[in-house]
Amino acid sequence: MISIHPAVDSGFKKGSDDFTGGTLECLCQSHKVVVKIESQTAHNHVCGCTQCWKPQGALFAQLAVAPRAKVSVIANEDKLEIVNASATIQRHACKECGAHMFGRIENTEHAFFGLDFVHTELSAQQGWSAPTFAAFVSSVIESGTPPERMAEVRARLTELGLPTYDCLSPALMDAISTHIARKKGVLR
Ligand SMILES: [Zn+2]
Ligand SMILES: [Zn+2]
Repeated sequence: MISIHPAVDSGFKKGSDDFTGGTLECLCQSHKVVVKIESQTAHNHVCGCTQCWKPQGALFAQLAVAPRAKVSVIANEDKLEIVNASATIQRHACKECGAHMFGRIENTEHAFFGLDFVHTELSAQQGWSAPTFAAFVSSVIESGTPPERMAEVRARLTELGLPTYDCLSPALMDAISTHIARKKGVLR
């Protein structure tokens, strides 16, 4: 059977409604980078794009968003570096183990400004919001998946209860277009 991501391959639990956050730790054996998130996450999903960080061997990344003001680095911040400063999402990764600790949008005009992207698989706590969809599914071809395996990939995602999209989910695409329409004055 095709492996999507270790956090979803054997099924996953629903998030808990009263969950209020926790910490993420990088993969280093010592002097771990620790990020505190003082809220539940939202829009958890698996992502097939080539820029999101994936654990070894995973076909997809798994990530969610949290309000930027609720995300802070509480240990070993000096080990972080920005993977690609010109990318829309600036991914702050541990220089030693490579884990992406949070992705931040600095463009105040962007629809998702104010939301940080985080990988809750790096957390020991249970209760984070569960994945609800698969984004940028076709992009796994760009990281080496043969196109003829895509039917199998999509079937597995569907079986896991993750609807497949080749960009973001309709809710997030609508949010982006609403933001643009407001800026243009088409919508008020
Ligand atoms: Zn590390
Ligand atoms: Zn991605």
